[in-house]
Amino acid sequence: MRAAHGVAEIGGQVVLIEQRSFLGGNPVAESYAGLTPHGEPAQPQIRQIIELVTAHPRADVRLGTEVTGVAGEPGAFILTLRSSEGAQAAGAPAAGAQEVECGAVIIATGFGHFDPGRSTQMYGYYEFPDVITQPDLEVMLSEHRVVRPSNNQPPERVCFIQCVGSRDRQIGNEYCSKVCCGVASKEAIEIRKLLPDSKVFIFYIDMRMYGYWENEIYWPAQEEHHVQYVKGLITEVLPKGDRLLVRGEDTTMGRPMELLMDLVVLSVGMEPSAGTRQVARLLGVKQNKYGFVDAVGGPLDPVCTSREGIFACGAALGPADLEDAVASAAGAAVKAVGYLRSLPVAAAN
Ligand SMILES: Cc1cc2nc3c(=O)[nH]c(=O)nc-3n(C[C@H](O)[C@H](O)[C@H](O)COP(=O)(O)OP(=O)(O)OC[C@H]3O[C@@H](n4cnc5c(N)ncnc54)[C@H](O)[C@@H]3O)c2cc1C
Ligand code: SF4
Repeated sequence: MRAAHGVAEIGGQVVLIEQRSFLGGNPVAESYAGLTPHGEPAQPQIRQIIELVTAHPRADVRLGTEVTGVAGEPGAFILTLRSSEGAQAAGAPAAGAQEVECGAVIIATGFGHFDPGRSTQMYGYYEFPDVITQPDLEVMLSEHRVVRPSNNQPPERVCFIQCVGSRDRQIGNEYCSKVCCGVASKEAIEIRKLLPDSKVFIFYIDMRMYGYWENEIYWPAQEEHHVQYVKGLITEVLPKGDRLLVRGEDTTMGRPMELLMDLVVLSVGMEPSAGTRQVARLLGVKQNKYGFVDAVGGPLDPVCTSREGIFACGAALGPADLEDAVASAAGAAVKAVGYLRSLPVAAAN
């Protein structure tokens, strides 16, 4: 949305293609509650961007639409689009196949959540109803009601397990997902505010606070909201009575630990979305070993892909918070319009 709005603002014509029937990406699809770090309600913030782009006269928003083919060449691509029945947009084309001519493409297809049922994970997400993920908790927090799914009662003891699906060589995701330490701290604060009698623990390998998030959420979580951070490795979650037994090692003390919890929250990492993998393949741009779009220009040119005329931004490039995503979107918009303006006049039109 930011990339499309950026292109339109600097004078370009843009078509925004969104596969879902609504805009807003994961923050809207997953009903994020408060934004990290300051906790502003997420939905009104995202709505502002949705309104900006949908109202722009040079932006043509196509919802419920996917790219199914690409032809032509840089500066004169022809994309084949398929819209689902009932696709809604200002000036929406009829459902079925259409073609769009464009000089440049920006990939902004984002991320998916790591599936905690996969591979080496022993945390029982699909077995125990009181094991949930960060996005599951966001939905509860957006309704201002945190309960144990097993009995609908507020939990007394809650813990977060960090780095689920990230920083894990066994499954091939060695990278850090960047946002989950901050998001866990923000969610822990929200739980303590909603349920002041609850005890909230965060089990971590090491806390990776992002930039100013250290002061903005990590220290307040401990000092004002009494969230308990425990450096440790959790090896398994087992049922015990009507609670969950969390077992692992306290790595500061160098001894085994077992704690009973009512609700276990898995801080699942980011992986490329199915759309990112599919669109990258379709457009013929290089992907890195994890499947994210490879930015080939190095640190000073982070939005160029391996193919001329095709740019990328946001979490399609790798784990990103909203500030990263929006900043790279602005960069991609400038690069794409600049590229079009560098073409011979006939191609740029
Ligand atoms: C639990 C959780 C909480 C978070 N909370 C915060 C927070 O509080 N603050 C913060 O800064 N960051 C937060 N983040 C990070 C934030 O979600 C990302 O930075 C942001 O969503 C990235 O935006 P994006 O547009 O790049 O990708 P996405 O949000 O993934 O959006 C991608 C869009 O592309 C669409 N798409 C995908 N494939 C196709 C296709 N083939 N065709 C058409 N459309 C397609 C999708 O439908 C989606 O609308 C959080 C992340 C998680 C996991
Ligand atoms: S941000 Fe924190 S929880 Fe997420 S992968 Fe990095 S270290 Fe692990």
